[in-house]
Amino acid sequence: MGMKEALKNLRTDYNLTQEEMAKKLMISGQAISRWENGETEPNIETLKMLSKAFNISINTLLGTPRALICQVCGMPLEEDVYISKDESGHFNENFCKWCFTDGKHQYNKANFDELIEVCVKNMLQLNPKYSEQQVRIMLKEKLPKLKYWQEKSVHSE
Ligand SMILES: [Zn+2]
Repeated sequence: MGMKEALKNLRTDYNLTQEEMAKKLMISGQAISRWENGETEPNIETLKMLSKAFNISINTLLGTPRALICQVCGMPLEEDVYISKDESGHFNENFCKWCFTDGKHQYNKANFDELIEVCVKNMLQLNPKYSEQQVRIMLKEKLPKLKYWQEKSVHSE
């Protein structure tokens, strides 16, 4: 799905006319019509506004160009409801809402093992064909490669 379809779907999901949506965003109705025709695209500020106003991630607004995964636990963020938000209510598309809650990281080097145990449980539920041992080894190998665990600040916490 491209961006213009994503924008149009958003509007129709909310049963809004182009004029109504424009009013909500305090922009012109013509702008919306141009987006939906693919003539123009909203700028980043407008995208942020749309994201917050309609509770939809920027990735989804862009037509889902990226397969997002949580950079702490590796969970695929297939649905916007899994994505974390920062303190101002904007989506933080780097993390799931369990790893980054109320603007705070829930895991760091000190409780990395705790995170592994949570992930092991979740993964076993999703993939019962693997053994606990296999899943644990896989996670211990995979998680430290994610962006969050590569950051220096994580180590000093
Ligand atoms: Zn996570």
